Amino acid sequence: MSQMIEPCPLFVGGEWLQPKLAGTPVHNPSTGDVISECPAGTAAEVNAAVEAAAAAFPGWMETPPVERARVLFKFKMLLDENFDELVRSNTREHGKTLVESRGDVKRGIEMVEFACGVPSLLMGEVLENVARGIDCEAIRQPLGVCVGITPFNFPAMVPLWMYPVAIACGNTFVLKPSEKVPLTAVKIVKLLEKAGLPKGVINIVHGGREVVDALLTHPKVKAISFVGSTPIAKYIYEVGTKHGKRVQSNGGAKNFVLLMPDADVENSTRGVIEAAFGCAGERCMAGSTAVVVGAAEKTILPTLVEATRRIKVGPTDRDPQPDMGAVITRQHRDRVLQLIDSGVKEGAKVPADGRGVKISESPNGFFIGATILDHVQLGMTVAKEEIFGPVLNVMHMEDLDAAIELANKSPFGNGASIFTRNGKAAREFKHRINCGMVGINIGVPASMAWFPFNGWNDSFFGDLHMQGKEGVQFFTQQKVTTSRWFSYGEGDIWHK
Ligand code: NAD
Repeated sequence: MSQMIEPCPLFVGGEWLQPKLAGTPVHNPSTGDVISECPAGTAAEVNAAVEAAAAAFPGWMETPPVERARVLFKFKMLLDENFDELVRSNTREHGKTLVESRGDVKRGIEMVEFACGVPSLLMGEVLENVARGIDCEAIRQPLGVCVGITPFNFPAMVPLWMYPVAIACGNTFVLKPSEKVPLTAVKIVKLLEKAGLPKGVINIVHGGREVVDALLTHPKVKAISFVGSTPIAKYIYEVGTKHGKRVQSNGGAKNFVLLMPDADVENSTRGVIEAAFGCAGERCMAGSTAVVVGAAEKTILPTLVEATRRIKVGPTDRDPQPDMGAVITRQHRDRVLQLIDSGVKEGAKVPADGRGVKISESPNGFFIGATILDHVQLGMTVAKEEIFGPVLNVMHMEDLDAAIELANKSPFGNGASIFTRNGKAAREFKHRINCGMVGINIGVPASMAWFPFNGWNDSFFGDLHMQGKEGVQFFTQQKVTTSRWFSYGEGDIWHK
């Protein structure tokens, strides 16, 4: 083993602790080397973290919102100062390119910038004279201990979707990062500690299902934010709500990109390539199915296939940087390869085939080349399952109506895009497509910090999404006070 093993501590009540139980290896996907071990975690550790967060809550809730925001301003400054180190850490444990890691960390920092402005979103509403001499006001108060459970694919950004807003609203927090990529999350929380956050306001536990179950059922946990695959997202929602928690739970996706015959060839090819193969397809906003409409199979598809064949895959932990990195684990690579094989067996063509890729300078990395499966049909396994790898399904439809109808059959509902020069077609698409984030002449767009990350259908379970005003609403509860004041002595029947 050539690389140093990085420690992966817990953070409980302001103390960095060594884990009790050994856990699962964390890999550098570019090399296959083990770079750390993520502890298994125990129910006792969960209890200690939740108790620490519960103990810190009264003091943090009473801290004025502007003072809470000041800690986040300092945090944002430290994130900027340590940007390059965080980017390298992100790439090392995830495998994505440095450019993609910069995006991951930047998007996370934008959430902190948003959270710095939360005091104005916490302001309440007042109506004077709801009846003569009676006023009514609604204020927002924090919930208490909130929990975040995160996936592997955005080690920096997804945890930052959750706790900056939760903390800005006056809650305390327990984070359980993905056991596949816990290291960048730990480094970022160390910066929050350095920014002056009081002990116990944020805590970290590690582990898998047992730890998650202990969090979901702990009586002192008030709210759960989850991001991950659809079956687990549904499980989290069901168990969490059954135990009386407020839950926002983001699931998986399969996002459609419609290529109209009139679309600009160069721009739409670039858009689809980025959407399908960015982060090696390991994105819930990956444009994983291109629907070529009518003559687009002649005008755009050949260019798209050529561009896909040119994508250079390789290790991202060194220069020169490739176009695309490895996938997260050896098991995941094998699953993606099996899915491609199943597509071929079920009748798809493979005009761009990344299955045989060999990277001589890094033979143990988890690589798959960019792949296109053409003539995919709805019943095929690859059309039904989220592949979450560098694989673009291509389907053919005769016109816009048929293409929208096809996309709307998907049980998921994160995002969809259309490439066209026709405003009417774009408007029809925007109006009729059955998902929560829409792109027009842009690859499936993940909404920015100020807007909700807006999955629909099986891509989201809950009512209030992460990010934007909905995030603030999720992490607060309203209190409505109705008041009447008498003049001194007025109506004082007891002294008459
Ligand atoms: P995952 O569902 O395997 O794991 C997510 C989290 O759940 C991890 O912290 C993991 O430890 C925990 N977990 C795993 N199995 C569990 C179980 N049986 N019980 C309780 N907890 C369990 O997801 P992943 O592979 O880490 O991430 C990829 C998935 O996340 C994809 O499906 C992707 O689409 C989805 N995702 C969705 C969004 C979104 O906002 N909709 C964003 C990013 C990723």
